[in-house]
Amino acid sequence: MTRGEYAAVDHGEWDRIKTRLKKEFGDSVFKSWVKPIVLDGMRNGEVELAVPTRFMRDWVMTHYADRIRALWANENPAVKRISIKVATGVAPSPSPGISGLSMPLRASTAQLPTPPTPQRAPVPFGSELSASLDPRFTFANFVVGKPNEFAYAAAKRVAEADEVSFNPLFLYGGVGLGKTHLMHAIAWEIRQRSPQRRVIYMSAEKFMYSFVRALRNQDTVSFKEQFRAVDVLMIDDVQFIAGKDATQEEFFHTFKALVDQGRQIVLSADKSPSNLEEIGDSLRSRLSSGLVADLHPTNFELRLGILDAKADSLGTEVPAKVKEFLAHKIASNVRELEGALTRLCAHAQLVGSSITLETAQDLLQDLLRAHDRKLTMEEIQRRVAEHFKIRLSDMSSARRARVVARPRQVAMYLAKQLTSRSLPEIGRAFGGRDHTTVMHAVRKIEELCRGDQAFAEDVELLTRMLEN
Ligand code: ADP
Ligand code: MG
Repeated sequence: MTRGEYAAVDHGEWDRIKTRLKKEFGDSVFKSWVKPIVLDGMRNGEVELAVPTRFMRDWVMTHYADRIRALWANENPAVKRISIKVATGVAPSPSPGISGLSMPLRASTAQLPTPPTPQRAPVPFGSELSASLDPRFTFANFVVGKPNEFAYAAAKRVAEADEVSFNPLFLYGGVGLGKTHLMHAIAWEIRQRSPQRRVIYMSAEKFMYSFVRALRNQDTVSFKEQFRAVDVLMIDDVQFIAGKDATQEEFFHTFKALVDQGRQIVLSADKSPSNLEEIGDSLRSRLSSGLVADLHPTNFELRLGILDAKADSLGTEVPAKVKEFLAHKIASNVRELEGALTRLCAHAQLVGSSITLETAQDLLQDLLRAHDRKLTMEEIQRRVAEHFKIRLSDMSSARRARVVARPRQVAMYLAKQLTSRSLPEIGRAFGGRDHTTVMHAVRKIEELCRGDQAFAEDVELLTRMLEN
């Protein structure tokens, strides 16, 4: 592989930046995080830095990269970006004698003649076994609302306590509600607070895979060894080991041994322990023996809060109306909600336009359709009829008396807001009315909501009920 065109690397710049960082962040941060960084090259306005481990890369990326970039841009306006890669051969902690020198570096391990034997001590523990942590998944980036406040508090407690608090902490909830986010947040927090505590985070699949491989290589002893020294073991998505008997048994033993030694365990699954099928009773009762905390489906406020936070982090102006629209329509899963917003922002940036309700509806058609199926117009009509104490049949009847006409308009309005049915489709569902009637209803309700607080609250309440 050629190295591409590099600009001359100016170590003087880097030295000055390091001095600044030391001043700003203090000695201990400097020693642990800045000193081991090696300047590897510069190309096309990008400064390339290298660190010895993936964990370090993630950490430096989230905590210091912005500052480093800013300082660099100050020193040298040609610098636009910095990148950090993991390169073996970067000494985790250079000896004092050579600390001033940057060593020439190979970018990839493949180029080294013989891979160095793994050195235990200086590398953060578990960095080979543990999956890498997503730098965005921190407590600070987790938006807390009613549906997740309990799980959040429990996770925070486990991360902040120096001693084992609940063992295990078992987090469960549906897809995309933040289980993995909270687990990573615990790992980040512990690594920051007490770097000496050894944390392993891995998926149950990886656990299973490593175990099966160990079995095949007749090496289960070293498999077990890896876990023996851990202080905090976190296994994500444990539903994957249900029904896999040998793995489950191994997991059970590992688990029991660690709990008995007073080590902290954190687990996640898509169901509560009692609803996990195909797991043995003894494991089940062990799983429930600590604290079981569930993440409830999101509500409107939480979704709105998440969209606010995400829009901020993307640095794109998103009109409140669009956020509300998304929070109404994409109710099932935070991942999809974020995906939708990212798509809108990316589109806006690419074509250089601003985000509007129309572009949102247009760009997200596929996603919105998929979500519609859950809420039918019939359901809307039924709920609204119940709320206003009229008959369901009046939703499609020809009666024009206000006591039925107004609720009918509310239902049409909600059908427009909460589903992606077209105006003619909605008209048909309401006794074959014309699309202009629906349009009129929507305008009327909007107008009433603006002028009449009590009415607006009624509509809002109905919206919430229909969404959950
Ligand atoms: P799970 O593991 O429960 O399937 P994840 O933790 O992977 O879900 O979350 C899916 C996405 O939604 C992630 O990008 C995560 O950051 C985001 N997310 C979920 N809940 C929240 C929250 N309360 N605040 C901010 N982001 C969240
Ligand atoms: Mg997950």
